[in-house]
Amino acid sequence: MHVLEAHELYRFFHIGDDETAALRGVSFHLSAGEIVALVGPSGSGKSTLLSCVTGLDEPDGGYVEVGGSRLTRRPETERTRIRAASFGILLQSGNLFGHLTVEQNLRLQMLLAGRSDEKRIAMLLESVDLLHRAWALPTELSGGEVARAGLAVALAANPPILVADEPTAEVDRDTETRLIAQFEARRQAGLATLIATHSKALAHMADRIITLKDGRIDGE
Ligand code: ADP
Ligand code: MG
Repeated sequence: MHVLEAHELYRFFHIGDDETAALRGVSFHLSAGEIVALVGPSGSGKSTLLSCVTGLDEPDGGYVEVGGSRLTRRPETERTRIRAASFGILLQSGNLFGHLTVEQNLRLQMLLAGRSDEKRIAMLLESVDLLHRAWALPTELSGGEVARAGLAVALAANPPILVADEPTAEVDRDTETRLIAQFEARRQAGLATLIATHSKALAHMADRIITLKDGRIDGE
């Protein structure tokens, strides 16, 4: 079953008279239990594609379906509801609310997805080695701890689809190992994971690799 489908996505950006075609007709699907790595040079459209498939951004052409429901060009409230129920999102930064502790960030994410589970909070913090930092604010964490807390938040509601944008770009070896273990656990549990990455280790564990080049799929 396809949990996510992108149909002929186009996205253009304009700065003055300059037009950048960030996505030029990108179609792909993601199935339950699958890890797909999205690779391609910097500027090839990876982050734009992840924003469009999660409904954080709207494509200028084409559409996205999540679990068979249309996400694209739906009212913001409906997109937000679908996003909260279907996606865990790990961006390159800004995954944590700065005025909430690590634990409060996790709890809020579960609340938004309607899946509160106190036992899961402790289990997740343990799995990313942050139990001892549960009450810390984001500003009190190291870079690796921020990355692991972001991962815990993205995984909080056990989302059917996890989308991660270069999650291992700036993390230490131990954090990368923990990320990979979480992605593997998702595959075992039949959950889907889409990762934009330059990491050979991550691309190696993927079931499929999609390569973007200048906003187009260059090979699958
Ligand atoms: P990647 O994640 O593969 O590095 P991006 O999706 O970030 O690529 O960017 C694709 C292209 O779109 C790049 O040329 C980038 O400069 C451009 N771009 C992305 N976001 C914006 C934006 N908000 N405004 C203008 N141009 C953008
Ligand atoms: Mg990017």
